Order: sequence, then structure tokens, then C-alpha cells
Amino acid sequence: MKADEKLLIKEIKTLQKAAQLHAKYSVSQYKKVLNTLDELQKEKELLEEKVKERTKHLEEEYNEKISYARRLDKIAKFDQLTGLANRYLFFNELKLIKKEFDLMGNSFALLFIDLDGFKFINDTYGHKIGDKVLQTVADKLKSIVRKEDLVSRIGGDEFTIILKNIDNKEIIAQIAKKIINAFKRPLKIEDLNLYIGTSIGIYIPQKHDYFQDIITKADIAMYEAKKAGKGTYLFFDESMKSELIKITKLRNYIKNALKNNAFINCFQPIVLSTNYQIIGAETLLRLIQNNKLISPAVFIPIIEEDIHLIKEVTFWQISEIVKLTKKLDIFFTINISAKLLSDYDLIDYLTNLKQKINFNTSQIHFEVTETALSSNLNTASNILLRLKKMGFILSLDDFGTGYSSLAYLRELPFDIIKIDKKFIDNLPFSEKDQKLLKSIINMAEILDMKIILEGIETQEQLKKLPENKNIKYQGYLFHKPYKLNKLFNCITH
Ligand code: C2E
Ligand code: CA
Ligand code: CA
Repeated sequence: MKADEKLLIKEIKTLQKAAQLHAKYSVSQYKKVLNTLDELQKEKELLEEKVKERTKHLEEEYNEKISYARRLDKIAKFDQLTGLANRYLFFNELKLIKKEFDLMGNSFALLFIDLDGFKFINDTYGHKIGDKVLQTVADKLKSIVRKEDLVSRIGGDEFTIILKNIDNKEIIAQIAKKIINAFKRPLKIEDLNLYIGTSIGIYIPQKHDYFQDIITKADIAMYEAKKAGKGTYLFFDESMKSELIKITKLRNYIKNALKNNAFINCFQPIVLSTNYQIIGAETLLRLIQNNKLISPAVFIPIIEEDIHLIKEVTFWQISEIVKLTKKLDIFFTINISAKLLSDYDLIDYLTNLKQKINFNTSQIHFEVTETALSSNLNTASNILLRLKKMGFILSLDDFGTGYSSLAYLRELPFDIIKIDKKFIDNLPFSEKDQKLLKSIINMAEILDMKIILEGIETQEQLKKLPENKNIKYQGYLFHKPYKLNKLFNCITH
């Protein structure tokens, strides 16, 4: 072999080795790359999984938030019991529709509907049946009007309908008749046949009416329809205007009464049943107009239209009574409207007052009626508990006029029940009423509650009344509501 050949073979071998080595290296590199790719793939899948999970979670969270917001929105705008628009939505819609009418002339009609006989059903058969009646009424009203019309429940048994794009009196009257006829047959609720009537007031707004006047006019027409006989509808007409002027004047007068010192508190003494000594007094609000005292039956409902006003008035009464507790050694009762038991402003006010002034909370009784409780039992019962903790005395007013007194007595922290005048009225002639009164008093004793008997007017009634240290009397036979100076005279002489 030539030296060249040998060299060539050696070179070839070296090259072969190098090639082998290279191949080996490449395979391992290749494997490494594959492994990395594999890992990357796995990582990618893992990441994708995580992203999917997070997206799902976010989606769930979003949906939950949306449905919560929708629920809140619904609660804010719709009546929970009937599903109809509530007072808030009604006012907003009316404002919008009125604006549209003023700008573009799309006329509309407003119907105010009041149920005749609802209170009787509620008192006789209880809230559950009462609630079903309201639901049935709501369904009936909705089925009579068109989809675009707005049916609302704006209060206990008060409904409104806004009929849109309509100004023909005939057609509106036909709709009102249809509603009245729909309630001529009894409502079938559970096993009961219940009769409910409707009184309808109608107003067809004119351009640039005041917003509040539209509502008041439909309301006045409804009030007149009720007076005209149940099951009637009436359009507002100018002859009703004097009523409108009267109400509007009174409303304005009342709004400014507090700052004009037109409210005064009168006090009706409450006496011990054993010796007729005055030990307390009920605070009764009066409005002075043209030197005359106006009855609370007239102005309390107007004050109650405005939650701020009823709060202002009651807080003013409390501040006056607190001063009196320092001068007279008797207790004072203050009537609390239902509206004051729907939020904690009363508690805040009293807590604040207590920090500023030292007074004996047990010298103040708060009187609450059953109707005040039925609207929002949970909040109301919390507020009552807080009042009790602060040392105030709680009294269930007008006991026996509502329906579920017994349930309230068991669940709520009342110290006193005030038995309504209607149990006293016929006492001398009705053995049944005598027995009824006796059993209420027995029950109160079992529950460890004190009693105030209200509305005693005659000696004959008095003769039939029990007397002991836990029973107190209040009525014209002993004392009428007095102005403050007379109360002082009665106590100090
Ligand atoms: P109420 O809380 O049941 O008050 C008792 C009412 O019965 C008072 O009428 C009182 O004058 C009257 N009365 C007491 N004894 C007799 C009697 O022997 N015979 C007769 N016929 N009546 C008697 P008033 O002052 O006209 O009050 C009527 C209602 O107005 C009260 O009923 C209460 O619901 C409301 N009210 C009165 N003052 C206030 C107040 O300051 N705040 C609130 N929220 N409501 C008040
Ligand atoms: Ca009272
Ligand atoms: Ca009462």
C-alpha cells in the first residue's frame, strides 16, 4: 500500500469516527429537544387548564354579581308580594311620561284604585289570605290593561295604572268599568269566597300640570268615587278643585308647621285603677290652624306621606318629652308611626340624645300599633329590641283591632298592652265583651305584661272593669287630653 493510500484510509477512519460521534451527539441533542418540546407541551396544557378554570371562575363571579344586581334592582323597583311596579318605579315612570307628554303630546291617563273591604278581610282572615287577595287583584288588573300600561302597587291596598297613549274619555271609562266588573264576582282564595270592591279615580293630565297635582287629582277623584258609593269610578273634574285647594293648602301648612310652631303636644293623663292617681300621660299631637285645634285623624296621614316630616315631628316630640320628664315625676307615652320602624334613624337619634342629655329612659313609653309592625316585621322587631335595651318601655297600642296580636305578643318585647276602646264601649250590655276582656287580661298576666284600658267614658263601663296594681285606665271619664299647663295643674293640685 502506498503511503498515500494509508493516509487516505486513516483520514477516512477519522472522518467515520467523527461522523459517528456527530451522529451520536445529534441523536442525544434531538432527544433533548424532543424532551423539552414535550415538557413545553405539558406546561402549555397545564396553563391552558388553569386559564380555563380561572375564566370559568370569573364567569361565575360575574354572573353572580349580575344576578345580585338584578335582584337588588328588582327589589328596588318592584313590589315583592305582587311583582307589580312599586311606588318608586311608579313615580319615576310618571315623571318620564309626563315629560314626554309636555314635549311631544303623548297623552295618558292616571287611575287610582282603592280596594273596598280589604281591611276587613285582612283583619278577619289574617295576613296570609290578605296577601293572596292582593296577588289576585294584581293579576286581574294586569290582565285587563295592555302590556305597555303600567300597573303599580303604591301602598297597602292602593294600586295605580298609567294608561299610555290614550286621551279618549270613552275608552278610559270602558277600562274602568271592566276593572269594576272584574271584581263583582267573589275572589276564590283557598276555600273562601271573598268579596272585594274597587273605587277608581281617574285624571287625564293637561299639558304642564304640576307633577304632584296629577297624583293629587287622581287621588281626590278616587276619594270622591269612594264617597259616591263603592264600586264606582269618577273622572276628576273642576268641581272637585275646591277639595284640591283645601288639601294643597293644608299640605303646605303642615310642611311648615314645625318651624312655625303650629304643632303642640297635648297630654291625656293615665291613672292607676286602684285610686285614680295620675301616673302617666299619653302625648297626643295637635295642629293649630286659625286658632282651632285640628284632629290628628286629618293631619297624621298627611305627615306620614313624607318620611322626613314624620321623623322630624316625632324627634321634636321626644325632645320636648325629655325636658318634661325632668319636671314631672310621671311617665309619658309617645306614639310611633310605622314609618319610624323601617330604619334605624330613631335609634340613632335616641343614642345621640342620650349622649348629650341624661334622662330616665324608663319614664318614656313608645306606643306601637300592630299595623306598624306588619309592614316589616324583622326590622321593626330589631328596633324594638334596641329600644328595650336602652331602657324605654314598649306598649302595644290598639290591641285587638288588628289580627295577629297574639303572635306579636309572643315574639316581641312589649311590656304593656293597651286594650282598644272598642272592647270597653259595650261592656255594660255585652256579657261576651266582658268575658273577652277578662280573658285578654288573664293572658296578659300570664305573659307578665301590664295593661292600660283605653277609652273609658262612663261610670257603667267603669263598674265592669277589673282593678289591680297592674291595670291602668285612660279615658274621658277621668281626663281628656289637656294642654301642658292644665296637665301641670292636675298633677300639682
Ligand atoms: P290613639 O293612639 O289610639 O290615641 C287615643 C285616642 O283616643 C286619642 O285621640 C284620644 O284623645 C282618644 N280617647 C282617649 N280617651 C277617649 C275616650 O274616653 N273616648 C273617646 N271617644 N276617645 C278617647 P286623638 O288624640 O284624636 O288621636 C287619634 C289617633 O291619632 C291616635 O290614636 C294616634 O293613632 C294618632 N296620633 C295622635 N297623636 C299622635 C302623635 O303624636 N304621633 C302619631 N304618630 N300619631 C298620633
Ligand atoms: Ca296611642
Ligand atoms: Ca290606642
